[in-house]
Amino acid sequence: MRVKIISERCIACGLCHLEAPHIFDYDDAGIVRFYGSSVKQKLEQTELLSSVKQKLEQTELAETNELEQEIPPAEEKQAGSAVKKCPTAALKASNH
Ligand code: SF4
Repeated sequence: MRVKIISERCIACGLCHLEAPHIFDYDDAGIVRFYGSSVKQKLEQTELLSSVKQKLEQTELAETNELEQEIPPAEEKQAGSAVKKCPTAALKASNH
C-alpha cells in the first residue's frame, strides 16, 4: 500500500496519528507528515533549498506539497484506518 499526503487539505486534527502513530507525524504547525521526513523538511526550510524550490515552481516542475510513501505491511491496517477516518481526505491510499 502506498499513502499520499495532500498537506493543503490537512486541518491538523491529529486523528491519523492516533490511528497510525508509527506512520504519521506532524510539523511544527500540526500539519501531517510521515515519520522520518523531519530532516528533509528542515532542509527544505533552508534558504538554499527554498531558492531551488522557487525556481522549480517558476518552471512548473515542482510538485505540490503532496508526499507519498510505501507503507510497511505490518502498518497497513492502521494506515488504512487513518486514511478512512481523515475528515478532509488529506490522505489517499493506493495499491501501487
Ligand atoms: S486525520 Fe487528516 S486532517 Fe487530521 S491530521 Fe491527519 S491528515 Fe490532517
